[in-house]
Parts: sequence; structure tokens; C-alpha cells
Amino acid sequence: MKIPFDLFCDKCGRNLHADLDIASPNPDVVCPCGKTKFKCLVGSTGPDSFPGLVLDRAWHELQNGDHTMTILLSAIGVETLLSVQALRWTPPLDLPKDVLPRISKICRELYPMGIENFIGREHQVSRLVFDFRGDALRLFGHPRAIARKIYDAIFEPRNAIVHSGKFTFSQGEATKAWNVAVFFYRMVRAMGTWKDYQVDHESLDSLFRKVE
Ligand SMILES: [Zn+2]
Repeated sequence: MKIPFDLFCDKCGRNLHADLDIASPNPDVVCPCGKTKFKCLVGSTGPDSFPGLVLDRAWHELQNGDHTMTILLSAIGVETLLSVQALRWTPPLDLPKDVLPRISKICRELYPMGIENFIGREHQVSRLVFDFRGDALRLFGHPRAIARKIYDAIFEPRNAIVHSGKFTFSQGEATKAWNVAVFFYRMVRAMGTWKDYQVDHESLDSLFRKVE
């Protein structure tokens, strides 16, 4: 899959349009003048993972006015994020077959107190502060039954495409699906970071207990 994006070379003043091939492990782009090598940072959702790149591609489709593709790619971004997260466990986490329980299970494993509590509390991990309350209120109204609302915003329209051949979606529907997918992506990554710190914290504690 290729992600289109634009670059500016400040050595020669060229505007470059490039397609980043996500199958390539080192997707640096060199300007034809040869003086500038661009390290690719793709969009706003992070360059380092397939789900992030898929969501970036979904954003480009939204800009192109392709609402159906935006919804499909947003759904794929969320589904692959779940699968990639499951691989962090040894052995890999066994996920339920359906999307909604998959979302709930990953979130519960990362943050046992649940999605709503994660959103409701401001978390500080080292110097990073995770605060999703404002975004959740804007996207979901009241931050309640979030997994269901994520499903409704992305997978209801996705299923209508796949199972009912519906291809007429408004910009509002596509924008909502993309925004919710990005919200979920950021939240799960934040949960992952939170969990990593908890594990470190606990292992330090047990170390001290052994010393005592
Ligand atoms: Zn140049």
C-alpha cells in the first residue's frame, strides 16, 4: 500500500510529491537535487505502525472526497490495531471473533478499569499526559458505552458497505468514522504506554520487597 504525501525541499525550493510504500522498511525520499533526504513522518497518527499508516491513508481518502474508502480504511486501521496489540502478549492474546468484544478485550487487558475510566481520568506517565476527556465529549457526547459507540461509528457503515453494497455516505459520516478510528488508535496506544509503566513499577516494587 502506498501513502501519498507532499514535501518541500528548502535547499532547492522544490515541492515534491511522493508515495511512501509502507512495505519498504526504509522509505526515505531523496530530492532530485540530491541535497536533501527526507525521513518520512507520515501524518498525525504516527509513522511506525501499519494501523497508523492505514489511518493516514484514510485521511487522504477523506480529503479526496472518497467517503466509502475512508470508512473501509478506518475500519481496517482499528482491526489491525487490535491484532497488532494482541501480539504483544506471549503467547499472543486470544481475541474473540467479533469486533465489539475484541475492542473490549484488548482495552480491558491493557487497562483493567475499563475504557470509560481511562478516559475519565487524566493519566500522567513520566512527562506524557493522556487526557482524552475533551475529545471523547466532542465525539461521543457523553463518555459512556464507548466501545459500542466506536463500533457504531465505524463498523455499522463498514458493514453496510461490505454486506449491503451501500456506497453513499456523507462527508459527516466519513469524517466521524475517521475521527473515531484515530481517537481509538491514540487511546489504545496510550493504554499500552500506561500498562508498560505499570509493569515496570510493579517489577521495581517486587525487587524492593525482595531486598527488604
Ligand atoms: Zn531539493
